Amino acid sequence: MSASSSASRVMRDLYALCDCGGRLSGTPGEALAAAFIMEAGAAAAGVPPIVHTVDYAGWEPLAARLFMADGEAVPCHPLVRTVPTPAGGLDAEVIDLGRGTEEEFEAHRAEIPGRIVLVRHELMFAPGTIHRRVKYERARAAGAIGFLISGPSAGSLVAGSSGREAGEGIPAAGISPETAARLRRRSGGYPRVRLAIETREMPAQTRNIFFDMPGETEEWVVLSAHYDGHSLAESAMDNASGVAIALETARRLRAGGKPARRGLRLAFFSIEEWALTGSALYVAGLDEAERAAIALNVNIDSVGFDHTLTALVSGYAALEPFLLGIAERENIGLRTYRPFQRNSDHANFAAAGIPAFRLVGGFDDANAPARHVLTAFDTRDRLDPAHMEKAAGLVTSIVAAALDAPDEQARLWRSSRES
Ligand SMILES: [Zn+2]
Repeated sequence: MSASSSASRVMRDLYALCDCGGRLSGTPGEALAAAFIMEAGAAAAGVPPIVHTVDYAGWEPLAARLFMADGEAVPCHPLVRTVPTPAGGLDAEVIDLGRGTEEEFEAHRAEIPGRIVLVRHELMFAPGTIHRRVKYERARAAGAIGFLISGPSAGSLVAGSSGREAGEGIPAAGISPETAARLRRRSGGYPRVRLAIETREMPAQTRNIFFDMPGETEEWVVLSAHYDGHSLAESAMDNASGVAIALETARRLRAGGKPARRGLRLAFFSIEEWALTGSALYVAGLDEAERAAIALNVNIDSVGFDHTLTALVSGYAALEPFLLGIAERENIGLRTYRPFQRNSDHANFAAAGIPAFRLVGGFDDANAPARHVLTAFDTRDRLDPAHMEKAAGLVTSIVAAALDAPDEQARLWRSSRES
């Protein structure tokens, strides 16, 4: 298999996922992606899918509009699991809290009750990022009656989860930076808007999809990628890229032919964009022995759009020399970042005591294409065949090494966690 034909194979899978649409959980696009993964995964891994049906609190947006003070309607995008506004909409003043730091909330504490809070979405993959869900909770706790978050990309709305599970909440929507500019804090009063959101909530089901390629022992390396997304674009970087890389890794390791000490479990999770719910339910369903049998979780989320790759090692310090050593042998640039980051499915493994890392592109680079994740610009043209090929090569080498790593090394990973 030449490099160019394996690259086209990876891109073919990527495009097939993008063809399903944005893949918001609960939509036909998500179901189409699940069907694709069951077929492509079986072909790649040479084993049938193991499907876990997952019950979750379903939610569907029916309508979302924002009206400026002069009555002009501007687009907005309901955050996942937002509550609806009262019939007729929520008519209120907007308090702009800039980025939405703790200091900004504190400085304007008295102005927040009874108003809609406006904050900015930040580069998702950076050390100092304050997650949207944190800002939403701050707004709610401070007495805000609504939440608006301005996207990072000119001309686009922004998507994401409100973090709400069920019950109480405040209406929450993403807006464009252009709309946010019109709602900026200025002297002489607060801008007024009417936010109108209609939603439906119902019991729902989705699927986590696994492929178990057994090894010589009862231990596993779990290679995961979430396949759900949002409805603003094709969720191409985030995370058709990860699914395509995981499929390609399975194909290459299977073609390698020699049995490994540990088994490879491919895990394709859904409702990741819903506060990491799919993987949370999977990890919660494992008993102690099953958790102990997972030597490592390699989670691929948003790669292949530029030359940078970073492993977020969730505090498992001993993963760093292991991963950097492989990257050096393969002559692939890799950085590691140690603090625990709750920004993808690896977080649920790591929190349960399982060594876990996320491989991500564009980390801490404000100009990387990753800034368009969760916007209308997360489309297939962002992905580059050469960068996808490079990521597939590195992931294959890492997983192969983890499958055969000595027990002593795996124990070291597990015991190296810093709080
Ligand atoms: Zn993601």
